[in-house]
Order: sequence, then structure tokens, then C-alpha cells
Amino acid sequence: MKKILVGFMLLISIVLFSMSSSGLTYHFTDNNSLKTMGTFSPRLSGGISTVYYYINNYSTMSQYASDLISGIESWNSNSAINFTQTTVYWNSVCDVKVYDCDLLPAQIYNPDVNKIVNNPFKTCYAYAKLWYGGGPGASNNKGYEFVSELPATGDYWLGEIFINYKVLPSSNSSMKKQVAAHEAGHVLGLNHINLLSIMNDPLTTSSPATPTNTDKNNVYDLYYARW
Ligand SMILES: [Zn+2]
Repeated sequence: MKKILVGFMLLISIVLFSMSSSGLTYHFTDNNSLKTMGTFSPRLSGGISTVYYYINNYSTMSQYASDLISGIESWNSNSAINFTQTTVYWNSVCDVKVYDCDLLPAQIYNPDVNKIVNNPFKTCYAYAKLWYGGGPGASNNKGYEFVSELPATGDYWLGEIFINYKVLPSSNSSMKKQVAAHEAGHVLGLNHINLLSIMNDPLTTSSPATPTNTDKNNVYDLYYARW
């Protein structure tokens, strides 16, 4: 998908009465499960058919990249969702940027309350951030995290996924995939739910390893039924 130039930020469904993809037809069966990242259900502005994601090349990423790719692209299986890796990180051709980082510092600025607060992500495996508005520093930019309902009033044009390599065990392949799929769900616009879903918070060993049909249907609801 294409987007125009600059602009950045923000942070992490039904019925289509039916929707065919890969030979499958999805019907929304559990619309009560849809929880979106904002009150107005903002979506990644380019849709879900071609979501280009870029994984950074920091040295620490070598321990994560293959599992992150597997986790993110697990959304593609038997669905209309298509995450495609790109080596281009320019905003005009990249929808999702994936970084490995430790979630320092201990305190961060929260634009919602205009205060410096303790960094709630310092001990998280990962988090997602959605961007909308005119770009970093623009007055209409806000950084959001996945745990809160967002007061966003529009769709967002970039998602970022931060992998906390100091906390997420590099030796746990299945967990890395699960976490990547979960954060990709936030980037698509989903919030946490407690059903059998990749959007469980926290993810546990009893959580699904990959997105479920509930998760995919929730995405369809978000992008098609309410488009
Ligand atoms: Zn989450």
C-alpha cells in the first residue's frame, strides 16, 4: 500500500456478512469479542490486504528476526490479511516497523496526562505503538499504548512494534512468535480479550500459539463491516 510522505504516530473482528479468502468463508460469530484500540475503532489506514513491515537490523535482532517474521506472518494463514516483509523502512512504503530495544528509560512522558510517568513497559516483553497525525512533534500526535482505550478519532498510518530483548527470552522460540503475533494484532487495531485469542494479556502457555479465527474475524469486522 502506499502512503504519502511523512506523518507519524500512535501505538497497539465480524461481519462482513461473509468474506472469502483462500477458499474459506468467514462469518462473524462472536462480535462481542471485538475490542479495538480506540473508542472510534481506528484502523491501519492502508487496510489489511498488503501490510508491509520492516524489521530493523540492530545486532541484537539476529536472535529474534526469524521468529518475529514467523509470528507476524502467522496472521496470513487462511485469511485475507497479508503481512509482507520489506527491507524499505521509508514511511511511504512501510506500514509497520519492528525494533528490538530495551524499554528504558525508567520514566517516560505520557502525552495523555502531560506528565512524566513511570515507564509501564520497562518489564514488558514488547509493546506496540500506533501513529497518526502530522508526524513526530506535531501537535496532533500522540503515543498510545495497547493497554488503554484510545481517544483516537482517526485511522493511523504507521504501527511500531518494540521487542524488549532484555526481557523476552531469546531462547524461547514459541514465545517470541506468540509475542510477535500479539503485537501485530495491536497494529491491526485489536485490543486485549480473554477468549481463546492471540490477544490474551498476559499471554500464557495456554494461550493460542497463533491468531485464532476469532482474531481474524475481529480484524475483518474492524476493516470491512465498519469501513
Ligand atoms: Zn498487548
